[in-house]
Amino acid sequence: MKLLGNMAIEQQELTIAGIRASELVQTYGSPLYVVDQKDLTDRIQTFVTHFSSEKFQTNIVYASKAFTNLYMAQIVAREGLSLDVVSGGELYTAIEAGVDPAKIYFHGNNKLPSELEEAVAAGVGTFVVDNDYEFTWLQEIAEAEGRRIRVLLRVNPGIEAHTHEYIQTTNHDSKFGVSIFDKQTIPFVEQMHHSEWLDFAGFHCHIGSQVFEAESFFKEASEMLAYAKKVEEELGIELNEINLGGGFGVYYTAEDQPFELATFLAQYIQHIETTMEELGIHPEVISIEPGRSLINNSGSTLYTIGGIKETIVGHPYLFVDGGMTDNPRPITYQAKYDAAIATRMKEPIHQTYRVAGKCCESGDVLIKEVDLPKAAPGDLLVIPSTGAYNYSMSSNYNRIPRPAVVFVENGEARVAVKRETYADLLRNDMRMEGGTHVI
Ligand SMILES: *Cc1c(COP(=O)(O)O)cnc(C)c1O
Repeated sequence: MKLLGNMAIEQQELTIAGIRASELVQTYGSPLYVVDQKDLTDRIQTFVTHFSSEKFQTNIVYASKAFTNLYMAQIVAREGLSLDVVSGGELYTAIEAGVDPAKIYFHGNNKLPSELEEAVAAGVGTFVVDNDYEFTWLQEIAEAEGRRIRVLLRVNPGIEAHTHEYIQTTNHDSKFGVSIFDKQTIPFVEQMHHSEWLDFAGFHCHIGSQVFEAESFFKEASEMLAYAKKVEEELGIELNEINLGGGFGVYYTAEDQPFELATFLAQYIQHIETTMEELGIHPEVISIEPGRSLINNSGSTLYTIGGIKETIVGHPYLFVDGGMTDNPRPITYQAKYDAAIATRMKEPIHQTYRVAGKCCESGDVLIKEVDLPKAAPGDLLVIPSTGAYNYSMSSNYNRIPRPAVVFVENGEARVAVKRETYADLLRNDMRMEGGTHVI
């Protein structure tokens, strides 16, 4: 297993930010989500430093759906990033964390009228309009509230990114946004531009997730800027912002070869500057929206190994005390992960194991093949690179309480989210006895 961020090995044992894995589990329980805070803030600063230009303003918008809670949103705000939300719940979390509403972008293909109202009332800075229904609702709400609303339009530039089918978002029949090849799109922009209550600021797009080809992003930027230029000319307007979304690929296993972030970001900026020059277009702001690439490699999950089962065929199973409830990505996307036995980091490889969770689904296998030292019940297993789309996609399937989330930095650990209890599982349950139900 590759050591990431502030991981190290002390006498056979994995430490994260100077704290032994076994100490974390003894104190906070198992399974446990652990976030390496310094690694996270360093990566945030890599984005801020390298995605910057003297020719335009840049804006790093954290895609909070990757991993959010009050603690995380506070870090994002403190580091000066903007933040995007896709639901009333994510918005509520950001506002409660003290994120400046002016720095919030509201995304989503079906924002509910009630969510739009909440967001307008909260003073959300930018709404990324997905379709004409939303435009109509937003206009009505803006008028009722007597407030002008800044909007971007989500468009789909038809870039094929090489990634899993479920996480491709810009092929032509995507549920997100409107196509730049649709003849109705420019008239729609014109309508928004003329709206008394909306301030049409520009375009947004997002080509997919876990994309490894720098070329895909360069192509996206070129297509978007060319389209923006066309719209500016046809409608005689000037666009303020082009938001290029996220999707930058990250390392999970030795099969992944992500680009070096600082180098890629600098090349991306250069490509955008050159393209803007060539096209003669000058939006004031260029934004990107990293989610996974910001948080994923800073997060790890610690599990306790239970039974170890030899089967007639296939590699033996190592059973762990979590599974698809805390990490639904393997069962959902066939995602691959690496692992190590956190208390036997330097022991020689003994054999290939499968790592299975405890849920009642045959597909609840976190890792299909991983080479590990000889494991014993009670050993700790670490799965690194679980920062994104693990906690945020977790569930209570089989009534399994969610693990705690702790942030670690310089030998100190802080609980960001408490472990769920059985009582938490029943919090909204109503008993049948005792008469009438009041809805
Ligand atoms: C999911 C999403 C992102 C972030 O994607 P990552 O792959 O996590 O970087 C950014 N923008 C939008 C609109 C998204 O839906």
